[in-house]
This record gives sequence, structure tokens and C-alpha cells, in this order.
Amino acid sequence: MIAYLERVSIPEQPNNNEEEDDVVSILRNGLDDLQIQGNIEYPSAASKDFGGLKLTKPLAVIKPAGAEDIAKVIELVSRSPNLTVAANGNGHSINGQAMAHKGLIIDMKSMESFNNYNNYYYNNKMDVHVDQMYADVGGGALWSEVLKRCVLFGLAPRSWTDYLELTVGGTLSNAGVSGQAFRFGPQTENVTELEVVTGKGEIVACTKNQNSELFYSVLGGLGQFGIITRARVLLQPSPQMVRWIRVVYSEFSEFTRDAEWLVTRAEGDESVDYVEGFVFVNSDDPVNGWPSVQLDPNHPFDPTLIPTSAGPVLYCLEVVLHHGKNDCLSTVDAVVDRLLGQLRYCKKLRFQVDLSYVDFLSRVKVAEQEAKANGNWDAPHPWLNLFVSRRDIAHFDSLVFNKLLKNGIGGPMLVYPLIRSKWDSRSSIVLPEGGDIFYLVALLRFSPPYPKGPPPEDLVAQNREILECCKRNGLNIKLYLPHYNFEQEWEQHFGDQWTRFKQRKACFDPMAILAPGQKIFARNH
Ligand code: FAD
Repeated sequence: MIAYLERVSIPEQPNNNEEEDDVVSILRNGLDDLQIQGNIEYPSAASKDFGGLKLTKPLAVIKPAGAEDIAKVIELVSRSPNLTVAANGNGHSINGQAMAHKGLIIDMKSMESFNNYNNYYYNNKMDVHVDQMYADVGGGALWSEVLKRCVLFGLAPRSWTDYLELTVGGTLSNAGVSGQAFRFGPQTENVTELEVVTGKGEIVACTKNQNSELFYSVLGGLGQFGIITRARVLLQPSPQMVRWIRVVYSEFSEFTRDAEWLVTRAEGDESVDYVEGFVFVNSDDPVNGWPSVQLDPNHPFDPTLIPTSAGPVLYCLEVVLHHGKNDCLSTVDAVVDRLLGQLRYCKKLRFQVDLSYVDFLSRVKVAEQEAKANGNWDAPHPWLNLFVSRRDIAHFDSLVFNKLLKNGIGGPMLVYPLIRSKWDSRSSIVLPEGGDIFYLVALLRFSPPYPKGPPPEDLVAQNREILECCKRNGLNIKLYLPHYNFEQEWEQHFGDQWTRFKQRKACFDPMAILAPGQKIFARNH
């Protein structure tokens, strides 16, 4: 069967249905011969990812029971001249990064932790090691499940994403960033061991000291070097409660000064546990304007408190302080007052609520439910995520937030500082050059579907305009969750890391089987 597969050249775009049927029937036989423990499905229709901008149809979707199944599939694929394989986490990419047009999809969620029925047990179990403060979790586990499991033991991971319905392997392949990253680094800095199935079909355990090149390659590696089937995630005692606070600025320079002061507090100094920020429109627009800031319906935004000097957009610094259920609230108030007393926000434009740690981490789930109810969740999401150097963030603010996006984007426009020294340069993540501080900018559009909202092509064009504007003005930026179509663009993106990235590819996936949706390397024979 394998010899037969070797002779079959699968065209990029089979010319007709008959040709595709032939290919699928050959593939079906090959996959049947593998006798994997999981399941295989042959989709009849194309599908989209969260971005909703691309439609592709894989030849087959593998629902593996564990790493061995994945290794067998990769081994089979390596014997064909042009088949590819993409791990699909929760399909929350924007630009088809987890897709494999006319290739095979590995559905990582089928290995998720609580799926221990149907023999899906080996890779899915989630082991929390209380004494050593880590959890071993499946690469297809959702972070929401990791949280659910760990808090049963009074523990929780240290570094998060804002939204938890993302998979462990999917965020580790990018970085995984949220308001805790200034202290603990991204999620990629908070794992100590990985199990990976490489593009050569080998199952390899790796750490900083053992098979370290593979360990660092796959972290932020855009799925190019191997499929993460297990990860050892560092834990901390789970906070019980949080005080969630938002304060408003009219001046970008004061917003960044305060945000940077908070993220650079020396270890041991009193500080907050989470720092993010966002830009909003200086208007009563319900989505983009003042109402997007309030946390408590009983405490609305009072626009008379905005300084008359304010421009078209305002800035919100968002911080969180952990506290215990039984902590005296006046003690928490005192810490908050001491810290916030040093900040220069518009006095009285301060909003706060106390809620459980789990509810805080699950906050975007609430937004998801609302967006699902009004149809915005299933509409296209032409998102743009950037890292911007500290040197250029003020320029970015005046060119982009205050001009191109001064009317908002129909969703959050995040901007907050991160600390380079918390990001290991041996990983595959690309950051803009500059000093220790750089900024995350995330343009998270949630427009209603066209024609109620703007045509998605216009929003894609606006993203392009933003990038061209940055280029024209010499701003030092890098795409986060990058998306390019040509090798030359990737080469520019990676800059002086391109040679290392290519060498890693040659070492761990020499036939370029993995993650074709990233469009970095063409499949080799
Ligand atoms: P997918 O989109 O399925 O996969 C992403 C890439 O990784 C693909 O190339 C895929 O082939 C590869 N891959 C998937 N699983 C594995 C694996 N096990 N091993 C190797 N490669 C794999 N990101 C942040 O950093 N911070 C945030 O706060 C944040 N919030 C978000 C909120 C929403 C609503 C959404 C939709 C996305 C958000 N993201 C955030 C982006 C998120 O990190 C990416 O979408 C990421 O790709 C994870 O999604 P996923 O698990 O669905 O992976």
C-alpha cells in the first residue's frame, strides 16, 4: 500500500471530483493499514477557522488517541510525494494557519484531557503534581480545562491568554500572552518539558537540557518542527479572588509611563498581578466608546470627567490584584490606594470589581456568549496582532490609533507593555529589536456579518494600510500570530533568525510536511 502511495502524486488542486475521489480512496487504504487507535474522518465539505477568511477542505481528519497514532500518520505521509499534515488545536487561527489544503488534519482536541472514554486515554490524561507544582497535560487540552483541573488541587498555571478556549499546543506554537506575561513571560516560558512528534515521525521528550534544540524550536515554532502532544506546565498556588481595576487616561504618554512603571517594579516591591491596557473611542459608541470601559453596570462612565484637552481616543489601563477570600477588604483597598496613588490617570475615572480568580480568567467566555447570540462570533475576524518597539509606540499611537482607527474597530484595541528579558531568545518567537520593553498591540475586530457590518475585504485592506503606514514611517514592528504568503516575506519577518529557523526545519521536518497553512516552506520530496 505504501509503495502505491509513493507513486501517487496528489495535485495541489485536484482537477475534478473524480481525481480527488481516487486520491482519497488510496489514502483511505493507506490509513486503514496503519490501524491507529483513534478515528479517521473524510470530510465532504470545506471548513473555516475563527478568522473565517479562508475555506479549505482537507482530504482526511485524524482523531488520534495519542502520540503513536500521530507518528504513524506522519510516517505514512513522508512516503508520499506531496501530502502534508497540520495539527489543528481549536482552529482559532485567523488566516488558515492550522489548515492543510488537500492534506491531513490532526484534530488535537480529540486527545483532550477529559476524553478518557473510547480508549482515548494515554495522551489525554492531565496529571497535577502538587508537590512539584506542575501539571502534565495533553497538547490538545484547552486551557479552560487545565484551569478547571488545577484549581481542584488549589493550583493554577501562572501565565495565561485572555481567552481560555485555546489549546495548549496551539498557544505554545505562538507564545501565549496576557496580563501576567510581564511577570512570568509568555506561556512558552512556563513549560519545562514537552513531548513532540517531529516531522520525521519520531516521538521525542525534550527539555531545556535534553534535546534542547527541539524544545526551543517548537516554542513559538508555528507548528513547523513537530506536534506537541504533552506539555509540563508550571503552576502556582491558585489565587482565590481578584480586584479588577480600570483607570482612564487622555494622554498616551502618561498611560505608557504608568503601565511601564507597573511592569518594571523590582521583585519584592508591592505591585499588581496583571497589567493590560486598551484604546477606546472618545464617544458614547456602545462598542468602541465610553461604555466599553465600565465594569459594574451600577457605575457608568461619566464623560464630564474627561479633560477638555482629550483627543479622539482615550486609554484605559487595566490591572488586577490577587487576594484571598478571607482577606480583609480594607487591606486590599490600602494596597490598591498605595499603588494607584502613584498613577496619573484622570481622577475619578476609575472602575473596579471584586470577583473570583476563575471568573476573571473566564471573562472572555462571557463576551463569546454575547457575540454568539448576536452573530458576531461566527462572522469573519480580520484581526491584526503586532509587537511594537517601545521606541515607536508613541508614533504608532499618533499614526494608527489617533488617525486610521480613531473611530474604533468594532472590538477591543489592546496595547500594553511586555518585558523582553522574560522571553527566551532561543525560542522561535520573533520580537522587534530595541530595549527591554516592547508593546503588544491587538486589533480584535468583532464586526457584525456583512451587510450589517463592513465587508471583510475592507477590514483586511485596513490592516494592510496599517502595516504599510508602519513601514513607510520606519516603525519597528513584528507581527504576532504572523501571516505571510511568500518566503521572502517570511525571511524579512525572521530577519537574522531566518537561518536558524531554516536549519531547525531541515533538522526536524526536512520534508516540510508540517503546518502547511503557515505558508513558510513548500513540501519537499
Ligand atoms: P490553532 O489555531 O488550531 O493552531 C495554531 C497553529 O499551531 C497552527 O499552525 C497549527 O498547525 C499549530 N498547532 C496547533 N496545535 C499544535 C500542537 N499541538 N503542536 C504543534 N503545533 C500545533 N493569543 C494570545 O497569545 N493571547 C490571547 O489573549 C489570545 N486571545 C485570543 C482570543 C480569541 C477569541 C482567539 C480566537 C484567539 C486568541 N489568541 C490569543 C490567539 C491564539 O493564541 C491563537 O489562535 C493560537 O493559534 C491558538 O489557537 P488554537 O489552539 O485554536 O490553535
